[in-house]
Amino acid sequence: MADDLNYLPAARLAEMLGSGKISSVGLVQSCLARTKAVDGRVKAFNSCDEAGALALAQDSDQRRAAGQARGPLDGIPVGFKDVIAVAGQPLTCSSKMLANFISPYDATVTEKLTAAGAIPFGRLNMDEFAMGSSTENSAFGPTANPWDLTRVPGGSSGGSAAAVAAGEVSLTLGSDTGGSIRQPAALCGIVGLKPTYGLVSRYGLAAYASSLDQIGTMARTVEDAALLLGAIAGHDERDSTSFKADVPDYRAELARSKGRWRLGVPKEFFGAGLDPEVGAAVKAAIEHYRATGCEIREVSLPLAAEYAIAVYYLIATAEASSNLARYDGVRYGRRSAKAKDAVDLYYQSRAEGFGDEVKRRIILGTHVLSSGYYDAYYLRAQKVRTLIRNEFTAVLRDCDALLSPTSPTAAFKLGEKSSDPLAMYLTDIYTISVNLAGLPGISVPCGFTTGGLPIGLQIIGRPFDEAGLLSIARHYEQAHGWYSKHPSL
Ligand code: GLN
Repeated sequence: MADDLNYLPAARLAEMLGSGKISSVGLVQSCLARTKAVDGRVKAFNSCDEAGALALAQDSDQRRAAGQARGPLDGIPVGFKDVIAVAGQPLTCSSKMLANFISPYDATVTEKLTAAGAIPFGRLNMDEFAMGSSTENSAFGPTANPWDLTRVPGGSSGGSAAAVAAGEVSLTLGSDTGGSIRQPAALCGIVGLKPTYGLVSRYGLAAYASSLDQIGTMARTVEDAALLLGAIAGHDERDSTSFKADVPDYRAELARSKGRWRLGVPKEFFGAGLDPEVGAAVKAAIEHYRATGCEIREVSLPLAAEYAIAVYYLIATAEASSNLARYDGVRYGRRSAKAKDAVDLYYQSRAEGFGDEVKRRIILGTHVLSSGYYDAYYLRAQKVRTLIRNEFTAVLRDCDALLSPTSPTAAFKLGEKSSDPLAMYLTDIYTISVNLAGLPGISVPCGFTTGGLPIGLQIIGRPFDEAGLLSIARHYEQAHGWYSKHPSL
């Protein structure tokens, strides 16, 4: 089975499995061969369960032969960001703290995917505990961008984006707290969808900032994103923030797409800091919508534009300081061998286990929650968060969705921003407010820079209207087909 499978969308692979043109074992072998050929350079995977994946592929082929295939994902390998639990597999969060941890249980998304016959293929590199925008904060070393190995893939789900872009697997899961699915999708030239907060269960996702975290899909095409989202969405009693929403057949909904949408363009998202080539590509995509009958309106999101980054880094770090308190070397995580006494054990274990960015955030988060500062920082940030949410709600009353760049620049050089946290934080300027408002957002490829680096268009939708959002994304994708281009590697 050949290399030509490597860049096929999952929907096409599903057809070929269905017609018997390929087997799941053959498909897994082809993914393994591709991973062996390119991952030494890309470093998307932290680990890969070769034997486990082949065994599940065999099961899938047997089911299919017996006429008992479980649906389109049966037999298709899916890569997991190393923050989502798969029973019996490592769950490291790309941290020394959890370097030797094997998950004893499955996340809800894992249960759902394996019930659909999908094959957990391997663990994907990320910024430690999902904190970062470049995948350089991984304790295991950075992932490279398949389009230019001297550049970052974006982050924190950089491994998930790079694995798809490099043709290692067609589908991966990521998590998005402030942009970590959409931004790496943009920088790697793939489709990344962050669902509405509450649509996909967070049970089994190692927590970073619980009121913002959401698991989502990374894929080559919008149709594949619809396919994967349909398999992981839905209410879950084990996640108290999970919403009781109907899960439509997102893929079938694409065919019913109505067109002629009313689309808002937030004027503040095209100001200073936006790279001119990125701005031009996004504006050309907006023109495509206008030319095909959509109504384009300029809208304004002044609070989101001005305060989202500040509000996010108060709320996200506050929640992180609380969520990461459990890694103390006693209850969870690496235990230091050097400690002199019990208090020193906590101190040494955390000092050894966490990387610099994680420590920076725990310190900031602890500070903003401490008495005397809580009202001035944390509480005020929560109030501004509500105002940002209201601002989006008002704008989305008259618009079906909003269009903007995903990231202000294309992929930057490895090391370029790693010593400047503020410059790194600004790379999420267009994505972070979407998490604060709990809305769904998708990044779709919309062209390349003159240097050959992918550019992403962000589309922001109404809460729980993923079907509409996917249709709007597909409308553009079908006309341009950027997904047919691949890095040469
Ligand atoms: N880059 C942002 C951060 O560092 C967002 C990360 C994410 O979405 N997980 O927090």
